[in-house]
Amino acid sequence: MKREKAYTGIDGFRIAAALLVAAIHISPLAAWNETGDFILTRVAARVAVPFFFMTSGFFLEKGTENRMEKLAAFTKATLRLYLISMIFYLPLNLYMGYFNTKLFLPEFLKDVLFDGTLYHLWYFPAAVAGAWISVLLIRRIGFKKAFIAAVCLYAVGLLGDSYYGLSAKIPVLKTFYDNVFAVADYTRNGIFYAPVFFVMGAWIAENEGRRSIRGGLSYFAGFLLMLVLMTAEGLLLRAFGLQRHDSMYILLLPCMYLLFRWLLFFRGRRRERLRDISMVIYIVHPMAIVAVRMAAKLFSKQTYLTEHPMALYLAVLLLSGLAGILYCQVMREWKKRHPMRSPSEGCRSWVEIDQGSLMHNARVLQKDMPQGCRLMAVVKAGAYGHGDTATARCLNRAGVRAFAAATIDEGITLRKEGVQGEILILGYTPASRAKELRRWRLIQTVCDHEHALALEKTGIDLQVHLAVDSGMHRLGISVDDVDCAVEVFQMKHLKITGIFTHLCATDSSRQQDIEFTESQLGTFFGFLEKLSGQGIVLPKIHVQSSYGFLNYPDIDCDYVRAGIILYGADSGTDTWVRRKLDLRPALALKSTVASVRKVYAGESVGYGRAYTASSDRDIAVAAIGYADGYPRSLSCGKGSVLIKGRRAPIVGRICMDQMMIDVTGIPGISAGDTVTLIGRDGEEEILASEVAEQAGSISNELLSRLGSRLTYLP
Ligand SMILES: *Cc1c(COP(=O)(O)O)cnc(C)c1O
Repeated sequence: MKREKAYTGIDGFRIAAALLVAAIHISPLAAWNETGDFILTRVAARVAVPFFFMTSGFFLEKGTENRMEKLAAFTKATLRLYLISMIFYLPLNLYMGYFNTKLFLPEFLKDVLFDGTLYHLWYFPAAVAGAWISVLLIRRIGFKKAFIAAVCLYAVGLLGDSYYGLSAKIPVLKTFYDNVFAVADYTRNGIFYAPVFFVMGAWIAENEGRRSIRGGLSYFAGFLLMLVLMTAEGLLLRAFGLQRHDSMYILLLPCMYLLFRWLLFFRGRRRERLRDISMVIYIVHPMAIVAVRMAAKLFSKQTYLTEHPMALYLAVLLLSGLAGILYCQVMREWKKRHPMRSPSEGCRSWVEIDQGSLMHNARVLQKDMPQGCRLMAVVKAGAYGHGDTATARCLNRAGVRAFAAATIDEGITLRKEGVQGEILILGYTPASRAKELRRWRLIQTVCDHEHALALEKTGIDLQVHLAVDSGMHRLGISVDDVDCAVEVFQMKHLKITGIFTHLCATDSSRQQDIEFTESQLGTFFGFLEKLSGQGIVLPKIHVQSSYGFLNYPDIDCDYVRAGIILYGADSGTDTWVRRKLDLRPALALKSTVASVRKVYAGESVGYGRAYTASSDRDIAVAAIGYADGYPRSLSCGKGSVLIKGRRAPIVGRICMDQMMIDVTGIPGISAGDTVTLIGRDGEEEILASEVAEQAGSISNELLSRLGSRLTYLP
């Protein structure tokens, strides 16, 4: 499996950001030049925390795992760190008399939720709130609107922060902010401040684009320019005395966007240690400040520190940096003693998806399409067993912007997981669900005239594609019914953005099937001409699915609806393919050996005693059965599997949850060994099409029926 390069730029900047945060709390330049210190600590250093938020937003969105699960894991990890930090600072709280206040409980709650029990700890609740707000917004209303909403929150924050001087003059705003400040010390918190950076990070993760030196340089130049302008903004605000606090600037948003884009340019080795060290510096530097001050007191050198804040700063960096390195060393030892388990460890049976292959296939198909034609990735039925949201989000990253699902519920799931672009529902959706179609921005197929009428009658504006029946006799308005189609085009609530037909014999090389396909194409395009003749402006056109594309490549269309070939599988082993493309299987189906036993000559194996050993055999039991989607018809030697790089036949009848394999002659097999049912093991490979063919079916059925009990490993 090819691994993507890690984000070295982001890892490196974490250290810079931690140093900047420490600078904010020490003001190292204060003794030399007040304005210089303002620029460093009140303006430039303000990129640090947004950078951490953007990084979290970026990695929450990256990858194709379930977003809500990732969010839950992020929340748990952040809250744990928060708790540890609070406990770490308890002695300091005690020393500073934190617990002596009269209104202790409300103050404490306020601090835990917004301000932090020590000044820099506000970061943790803000990160959690920001992550939740941004993920829920993106999920609910899509990136664009989520960004607008987050910018609005930020604007509210601004007017209570750097621009407070303006709102204080307007009575309504003043009352509003008085109330806000009764609950939180600043608007620089998880509600007003963090979400926009999380959304921006997530958006960049989805739209990373290609890297180029020119791009990298222009992002850097843009960032510097914005930084200069933001400095001007900060100095102006200060000159007019408008700032209540100085965390938020208008220009901080473009500044962060450009900075982050620039950092993405640097890719290479993963720098996990930098990440850990920066985290430790962030958490412990206030403690280091106290420690250095106490040491100075011990030697009666306090005045030296006040006069030379830079010395204090350097000492604090040294101390907290050392703490970070120590932490890494301890973690390394711990990891050595507790090695990471392989992803499939503990799994009974699992599906491995190679996302690199999926992206490769998408690129090969896109490259092979005629100019102006785009890939519509068919991700129905759990993306043919590959996992629909993971597949669609991975394809999003390969630049795919059109998807097809079979049902409205599949479409909604894709949207909820943040899939971008058009989603066409290929199957029937009852008109009673029109509202949901609209709400989740799904495009509905019009199945026939009656369906069109029903959808129109709802009075809800819908985007639809019109299906045309050119001979398959499944869905669509018949090619003979031009008038009927014209009527649908004139419906007020149906916005027809596409028209398509489905070919039903493209994988056959029989002469009469080729002629049939050509007649389907002829009647469909004739039908379109007639529509044009009636003054209809034709919408987007699509005709081919996988085999249509492989065997009839030169059709003038706007989309190709590719399913099975996108997954790098052939339907069957000897289906007709006019041209070969370099496509790679993306899925492997694997299981584990549950038990190994000897069966002596004359003994039988499994239900119905369907297999009797003619000589002494070694039998391995694999923990997978027909309930996992492996066809029972492959029982009794019809199917085989790979184990230790060798082929071994299935013996006896396949059970619901297990199957028996004859491993005689393959030495050293024991419980826990991996069994490959589809995929590669050493030199040997089993293709989905082979398994399907032996079972009397096609890969499409085999893959889409893989059971929900399997674990999915990306
Ligand atoms: C399933 C389906 C496809 C995809 O078919 P493949 O042969 O897997 O590429 C395309 N169009 C329609 C209408 C479908 O139902």
